[in-house]
Amino acid sequence: MLRASRLAIAAALALMLAADAGAASKPADKPMTADRPMAAGKAMQADRTVQAVRASAGFKAALAALEKDQDRITAETIELTEIPAPPFKEKAKGLAYMAKLKALGLDDVEMDAEGNVMGLRRGTGPAGAPLVVIAAHQDTVFPEGTNVKVRREGTKLYAPGVGDDTRSLAVLLGYVRALDAAKVRTKKDILFVADVGEEGPGDLRGMRYLFGKGKYKDRIAAFFSMDGTGADRVTYGAVGSRRYRVTFKGPGGHSYGAFGLVNPMAAMGTTVVEMNRIKVPSQPKTTYMTSVVGGGTSVNSIPDSIWLEVDMRSESAEELAKVDRRFQEIVKAAVDAENAARSTRAGKITAELKLIGERPTGATREDAEIVQVTAAAVKAAGLTPVLGASSTDSNIPISLGIPAVTIGSGGEGGRAHAVDEWIDVAPAEALKGQGVGLSALLAMAGT
Ligand SMILES: [Zn+2]
Repeated sequence: MLRASRLAIAAALALMLAADAGAASKPADKPMTADRPMAAGKAMQADRTVQAVRASAGFKAALAALEKDQDRITAETIELTEIPAPPFKEKAKGLAYMAKLKALGLDDVEMDAEGNVMGLRRGTGPAGAPLVVIAAHQDTVFPEGTNVKVRREGTKLYAPGVGDDTRSLAVLLGYVRALDAAKVRTKKDILFVADVGEEGPGDLRGMRYLFGKGKYKDRIAAFFSMDGTGADRVTYGAVGSRRYRVTFKGPGGHSYGAFGLVNPMAAMGTTVVEMNRIKVPSQPKTTYMTSVVGGGTSVNSIPDSIWLEVDMRSESAEELAKVDRRFQEIVKAAVDAENAARSTRAGKITAELKLIGERPTGATREDAEIVQVTAAAVKAAGLTPVLGASSTDSNIPISLGIPAVTIGSGGEGGRAHAVDEWIDVAPAEALKGQGVGLSALLAMAGT
């Protein structure tokens, strides 16, 4: 999960989309206020819906049950965090989660062919009718062997992956227990999902499966991703990305005896330097990163192969394409420059680009019910909604035109994607945040 930009950018993006569906990349050439009256009307309606949910006996009982359940939610946060789940190696965590969903008595608990784990909480509507999904991801960014033992200091828990996104997995279990304790029956079915492949290398494979091949793919009317902690977030814009591994190859040779031959590392170095000179707009937020390198033979050899991984992101498909084009020009120029700078008598430098990740750009309409209801749920909890764009599981439904937002699990947290990642599970703050997701979920599922 990557925190990204805020209200103004995303609102502009959504309004552009509202004016011209799918044209997230276009510059703002339309009046920016066109949809405001409609959005304002929908906001009032959403406020009323959420207030009715929060005033209901069922919600109050569910919140009271959640309040009593805080120690268990924290214990399950710790238990699940301590099961490693590197990209493509989520299975142990998935199986543990599946056992918990079964124990809670959800229907049709299963692990699908991609590794997503899910269970259905039936509503009062007909079987097979449109449903609401709430999902959290199993995987972390941390490689195998990372110490995932949770260290507790007061109400703070420290461990890689604790907030991104294991806390959310535990909160979803708390939601099921709370709804059961309060005997809340929603109209729509709710599908609780612990998905795989949200982080970098996974490239949203869990979501691609759920929405592309999974058995519920044609029934998903609304989608919540709970990812990270901040309960004030209403992320409805999808930041797109393109990621490459570039492999620079050359003839190689002895560092002393073959000195003077072309060196693929020089071409890679030029690429890194030039890429870091690219000017990108801050609005729409567009970024690039030269992030991982590898290769070489030995300290006394001209390398025959060296590789570099890069990540590019933007809220705008057009800006993403632009930075991608510039990057590819830089690679080509760096290769040409190295072939001109040193001897090619034993062979030339080449570069192979492999696309290793691609996430779509887009946004749920700002006036969509799920955006308005979630913003109303944030306000009703006494927080100020932060609308924005990010790169999360919601990118996939958003790209398919299915209403989706990414929300937080509540409480404070920080240092996501770092080994000193932490969350604060102080019960009052945690409960306030959990109430946001629960009220938005119930508003969308209908009670
Ligand atoms: Zn995440």
